[in-house]
Amino acid sequence: MKKDDLTKLQQQVFDLVLLQSMTFQGAANQLGVELNDVRKADSEIRTGMRDLIKVRDLWKRKKIGGDFWSFSGWYDSQPHQCIYCGISEAELQLLHDHKLIENKRIFRGKTLEIERRKANEAYNNLGNLSFACYWCNNAKTDTFSEDEFKAIGKAIGEVWRKRLNQIKR
Ligand SMILES: [Zn+2]
Repeated sequence: MKKDDLTKLQQQVFDLVLLQSMTFQGAANQLGVELNDVRKADSEIRTGMRDLIKVRDLWKRKKIGGDFWSFSGWYDSQPHQCIYCGISEAELQLLHDHKLIENKRIFRGKTLEIERRKANEAYNNLGNLSFACYWCNNAKTDTFSEDEFKAIGKAIGEVWRKRLNQIKR
């Protein structure tokens, strides 16, 4: 989602309330608009722009920093598959749905994670970020370089393909 997809007021409310966690009243005061206008814009964003909320949650949770809209542009421009093993988010979901992946860590594994290919770079260096699956991300840690892990990821990808083939047949 791009900034221009939002109205001017939605952009301002998104910035103050959803990114900076300002209260509705604080935002209304700062913008010189009615409290209800802020409430309405907030509700439009939260209910009508779920993809944007998802990216906002990620941006906050990972403490990406830098300009949110640059990160959002990066997020939309990336192929949503693991850079190492190649599995896509839809395929991960499929494997989970068919109980072909089971893990005890219920909070990880169903969606792709943000991977810093050079582990010591800051998150706001967008050029260093890629999507990776939980298993590749977890195994790579800061021990293996991007190139070293590509060979390992390839083998993991072959396991995923075999499991996915069980579904397609
Ligand atoms: Zn992977």
